[in-house]
Amino acid sequence: MSEALSIPEAAALLLEQKRILILTHERPDGDAIGSSFGMREFLRESCGCEVDVVLPTPPPTRYLELIGDYKTTLTPEEVAGYNLILLLDCANRERIACGPAVDPVLLPELSGTPMLNVDHHGGNNVNARWNLVVPRAAAASQLAAQIAIATELQIPKRAATLWLLGIVTDTGAFRFSNTLGNTLRVTADLLDNGADLERVVNAAYYSKPLNQQHFETELLETQEKLAFDGRYIYAYIPDELFAKHNFDMRDGEGVIDLLREVAGTKVVALYYRKGDSFKVSLRSKDQRYPVGPLARSLGGGGHEMAAGITLREMDHNQVEALLLEKVAALLGDREQD
Ligand code: 5GP
Ligand code: MN
Repeated sequence: MSEALSIPEAAALLLEQKRILILTHERPDGDAIGSSFGMREFLRESCGCEVDVVLPTPPPTRYLELIGDYKTTLTPEEVAGYNLILLLDCANRERIACGPAVDPVLLPELSGTPMLNVDHHGGNNVNARWNLVVPRAAAASQLAAQIAIATELQIPKRAATLWLLGIVTDTGAFRFSNTLGNTLRVTADLLDNGADLERVVNAAYYSKPLNQQHFETELLETQEKLAFDGRYIYAYIPDELFAKHNFDMRDGEGVIDLLREVAGTKVVALYYRKGDSFKVSLRSKDQRYPVGPLARSLGGGGHEMAAGITLREMDHNQVEALLLEKVAALLGDREQD
């Protein structure tokens, strides 16, 4: 049985719990981190709940200082000891980060612990026991904050700061078209509750280690390619470039924006090898050319303007050719402008 909840219903459900396990998506970004750790803070401090966040792989370095300690492993027995699994910012079960000992697809069914799925991805197909999926929310952190506001309990400053982090990073600091009036209203509430904007902005945008700056400079100088009169810009990151600068995409959330900032581009792509597959990130700057359908047509997903794909059994030249073909069709549907 799967049931859609409203924000007040999700708030009431959380208040009934004693022990909550919070999970999010693999390769956690600012919103995954912000929504999860903000909820942990709120549920612990204001609801007296016992709460753990599990991150089986390390989060981006620049957020470490904001989040504190966390669990890195999880067994099926441990899952069974919680009353509820709260899943945040994760659109499908395959991408739930729960570590090698637990099957993410069968997680609630095998453990007997029901799951509440709170997310803002339109294509969310987690089908948990309870679901709160709001595509108009700019960030899962916005939904987490709205749930907390609905409880009418105190929102701790640290929770407000973490949710602000998620909203700021998923909106590109309020630059992307997912920024709606309600995004700003929730943000205003968080600031009123003491959210530390300076800390968030410093962590998200002014904490780049020098090796990353050198990595990005060489990436742009050697790998940036333009197609279709510059309306499409893309870059392939070879393994050697990561190795040369000792850089890991764990810290690479903002790298694709270096391509997006160029004048005239409509669509950008960044891709690199990850094990035996390729990880592709796509962004659109113009709502007439959404990358969501392109990603879905290749088995990927995400939002309309920010999406990703994992491509298997291809080399980087094949990935390049496939993306060129798909982007040509996307851009070609329209008159040039
Ligand atoms: P990013 O490019 O930052 O990794 O991801 C952008 C968006 O696309 C996110 O909403 C993310 O959930 C989604 N996404 C990224 N990679 C994949 C993927 O391999 N498969 C699916 N289904 N979605 C992805
Ligand atoms: Mn998100």
